[in-house]
Amino acid sequence: MDVQRTLTDSFNRKVDYLRMSVTDRCDFRCVYCMAEDMQFLPRQQILSLEELYQVAERFVSLGTRKIRLTGGEPLVRQGIVDLCTRIATLPGLRELCLTSNGSQLGRLAQPLFDAGVSRLNISLDSLDPVLFKALTRTGELDQVIAGIDAARAAGFRRTKLNCVVLKGRNDNEIVDLVRFAIDRELDISFIEEMPLGLIDEHERGESYCSSDDVKARIAEHFTLIDSAESSQGPARYWRLAEAPHTRVGFISPHSHNFCATCNRVRLTVEGRLLLCLGNEHSMDLKQVMRAYPGDAERLETAIREAMQLKPYRHHFEVGGEVQIVRFMNMTGG
Ligand code: SAM
Ligand code: SF4
Repeated sequence: MDVQRTLTDSFNRKVDYLRMSVTDRCDFRCVYCMAEDMQFLPRQQILSLEELYQVAERFVSLGTRKIRLTGGEPLVRQGIVDLCTRIATLPGLRELCLTSNGSQLGRLAQPLFDAGVSRLNISLDSLDPVLFKALTRTGELDQVIAGIDAARAAGFRRTKLNCVVLKGRNDNEIVDLVRFAIDRELDISFIEEMPLGLIDEHERGESYCSSDDVKARIAEHFTLIDSAESSQGPARYWRLAEAPHTRVGFISPHSHNFCATCNRVRLTVEGRLLLCLGNEHSMDLKQVMRAYPGDAERLETAIREAMQLKPYRHHFEVGGEVQIVRFMNMTGG
């Protein structure tokens, strides 16, 4: 008899969603994510494409139904399209998603779609080229918009924009970004900045803009209809009476705790399985794979044991001490 294989943590939460960081590198240096002068990991310290595939394969065989590839910028990793092709065909996987800054989508959207990637999230914090450059430090807005359009032309649907809102920087563009999403039939999520990594560009407490504030601004222009849809994660979604094709999400690690229904774990590019975005509980899967190459059983045991380390909740606080020193690009946001 084929017993259904699942991963469950010690609070009886089913874990069936894996986010994998495939690189810590990026062609942007967003002010909330990275320092201007970043030190990236040496090659031997990061998982090879084969090791990334092996982790994905084990998770899917243990009941994982959704994988998201992220980074850093996943599209700057050499061989990413082949990796997607291999993961997308794992039997039992329902969705292979990818989060990108959009800069490489002009050339890679079609190959990714053909490789079997089901959905994209694309980050977009501003429609003003000057502010866009200031927030990303190196990014070109035109290139990202061309990437968003290339994704649609390639066949991607239900693409979602991600926008981190910083008070006094891009909060005056919230409604324009919603209109941009509506025009292109995209979903959009507004994200509260999280205290991950030491940054010196701004004081996180001062830039904090709550999801309730963002929602109130949108409600001045649109009728928000509460939607039951949720990803069992930090996002809550609303529909717009004026534009039924666009969903607006709010990712609120500060103001709305989402831990009780958390179904996800994260793999850093160094092969550390993080059980919670806001805690350091982890299991070193790279060490297992390098000590016992090709031993699927040992890898599986390590993954199962790791589930028992998953903490109940995170404790982010606005403007407080940085509790988590690792950067978002290391974590796989
Ligand atoms: N490079 C890709 C991108 O920007 O979409 C994928 C990786 S990035 C770390 C994933 C998401 O995390 C992006 O939407 C980014 O805006 C968000 N992010 C990065 N640092 C953050 C922080 N400190 N607080 C909240 N969101 C953050
Ligand atoms: Fe790069 Fe994404 Fe971080 Fe921006 S948010 S620096 S695009 S990894």
